[in-house]
Amino acid sequence: MTNREVAKQFKAEATPEGVGVTVHRSIGTRTQNTLDPFLLLDEFVIAGDAKGAGFPDHPHRGFETVTYMLSGHMKHADSAGNGGIIGPGEVQWMTAGSGVVHSEMPRLDGGEVRGMQLWVNLPATEKMRDPRYQDISAEMIPEVDLGDNGSLRVVAGSFGETVGPVTEISVRPLYLDLRLGSGGTAYIPIPEGHAAFIYCLEGCLALGDQEIEVGQRFLAVLTDGDGIKVRALERAARAILVAARPIGEPIVRYGPFVMNTRQEIAQAIKDFQLG
Ligand code: MN
Repeated sequence: MTNREVAKQFKAEATPEGVGVTVHRSIGTRTQNTLDPFLLLDEFVIAGDAKGAGFPDHPHRGFETVTYMLSGHMKHADSAGNGGIIGPGEVQWMTAGSGVVHSEMPRLDGGEVRGMQLWVNLPATEKMRDPRYQDISAEMIPEVDLGDNGSLRVVAGSFGETVGPVTEISVRPLYLDLRLGSGGTAYIPIPEGHAAFIYCLEGCLALGDQEIEVGQRFLAVLTDGDGIKVRALERAARAILVAARPIGEPIVRYGPFVMNTRQEIAQAIKDFQLG
């Protein structure tokens, strides 16, 4: 048994995205271009009175976008007529596959709209599959009580006997929303060989046996092993812990398209322009 530790950590970078939105990007930057199979991680924060701000029509091909809402609501609508609203504690796991053109816009009702968007790569054999949505309501996500230490929600993968509602994703993701009270601790099992990170949403965590301190808006990439020890420092803390099996294939990315070769990217641009 090997415990995981913090391999490295860095702060998310404030980056303009969409229309009038600033995201805090931790994967998909010069510092951390990818963390196979993860291609991007953004924390988006939109003020409740930011008229016109959001992510109007844009395409995706070759990967999955995972939106996890922390507060407020986002409306999504795609060119195939699918649409809906996701709110706090809800998830949309969208497999773009061969292509989706959609918009993601906040529902402005005065409160802050905040959430996480993660991009998960698809293996070559699935890049051109049909698009699929897994819309997960808050009640569908099981919560595990950790007693005085806190609690966690299992969005994907499993924690002990508790299994998350997101299924049929070939990289076998683990996606946990972890809340620890002041001084609360937990040991989180993570499949060996899977890439893993922890992104701190609130408070400050001490991670691994070495108790490396990781603050708000910092992303910690973990070493390999079967699990990690987490502890909240003086204040309550909240973080997401995400892991998945690396794909190990060449990645060619151009904005919203992520394929294996330059020719496939050229084709994606052409297909988009032709509608
Ligand atoms: Mn999108």
